[in-house]
Amino acid sequence: MRHCKLKQSNKRPQRTRMMRFAVTVFLCGLLLVRCSPSSEINAGNSEPAVRQFFSMDTLMRIEVYGKEAEAAADAAQALIEKYDSLWSALDENSDISKLNQSAGGPPIHVSDETFSLVEEALYQAAYTDGAFDPTVGYLLELWGFRHEISRVPNKDEINIALGGVDWTSVRMNDEDNTIQLTFSETKLDLGGIAKGYATDRLTELLAQYDIDRALINLGGNIGVIGQKVDGSPFKVAITDPSNPDRFIGVVFAKDITVITSGGYERFLEFDGVRYTHIMDPNSGYPVETNLASVSIVATAGGKGDALSTALMVMGLDHSIEFWERHPDFGVVLCTATGEIHCSSNLKGVFVPESDVEVTYFGAT
Ligand code: ADP
Ligand code: MG
Repeated sequence: MRHCKLKQSNKRPQRTRMMRFAVTVFLCGLLLVRCSPSSEINAGNSEPAVRQFFSMDTLMRIEVYGKEAEAAADAAQALIEKYDSLWSALDENSDISKLNQSAGGPPIHVSDETFSLVEEALYQAAYTDGAFDPTVGYLLELWGFRHEISRVPNKDEINIALGGVDWTSVRMNDEDNTIQLTFSETKLDLGGIAKGYATDRLTELLAQYDIDRALINLGGNIGVIGQKVDGSPFKVAITDPSNPDRFIGVVFAKDITVITSGGYERFLEFDGVRYTHIMDPNSGYPVETNLASVSIVATAGGKGDALSTALMVMGLDHSIEFWERHPDFGVVLCTATGEIHCSSNLKGVFVPESDVEVTYFGAT
């Protein structure tokens, strides 16, 4: 049995990973600051409150403007930390761990927050025809995305894990807030939706503090509340997957989320083959996609996060076909060969760098 190193483990804030996120945050921060200096944003307003911290297995940055900014930012950080304790796959006392330990057994009572997240995840699973499937947890464990050291599982192991991959088998009862995983091989993993979902809940929370301008960056899942003081939109950079120190263009963002999935951020390598952390729920293997990254522009972060993962599973052609059936979001698809395909509804919203060529799809 040969082992390989997980490049970016889910386990701890490894140095490589922290650096990658730092670059992402820096790039976004740089652009946002360049386009909207604090003094400009703040004209006639209070000082911004900024919170930067590690939670939900990634680096978070929240920047809030308004009279109640400090209290709002504290509440926002507290909410994220609460989510972390409820949903962490690594904490055996979290709601998600308890559910996974009970797989194949009776229903388990969970918090309102967990119930609502799982409900949203199942909704998105149905919406994406199962390309997004939150029951891939066992597969992720098998492939070693929970550990430092990994190996390529054999076909028999994959088949056993696949027996638990079925989002339709998750039973939810909203009368008593219980969830039941009917198959003993099922393990939930909400890593593909939790940060986007949290962005939506933070947006609601900040509204309670009369915050009408904020930038939420949950490990590269960007939520923009409001606009600059002069009424113009903020800009959010989209990273070039073939060179993550560069960006391919910017999204002009106002009350919107911009969420990217890519094989370049978390992966493991074995015998020179790179395996991404996104699983194909049909084959049980990490996706072998012709897409290097998918960026979704959507009004809701939960939807954007799930879609970014789902379209990575679908690949280029199926993603375009999916968008044509559901054109209520914007998408920038970067292929492994360096092409960029963008939905036509993002014309004027996504502005590519001058040396970047983009092909648009869909009627204008
Ligand atoms: P990131 O979490 O790095 O921002 P994504 O939003 O694409 O990236 O989510 C990838 C995560 O989603 C994986 O780390 C895993 O937790 C989970 N996941 C992997 N494959 C799937 C899938 N097919 N459906 C739902 N969730 C998935
Ligand atoms: Mg996602």
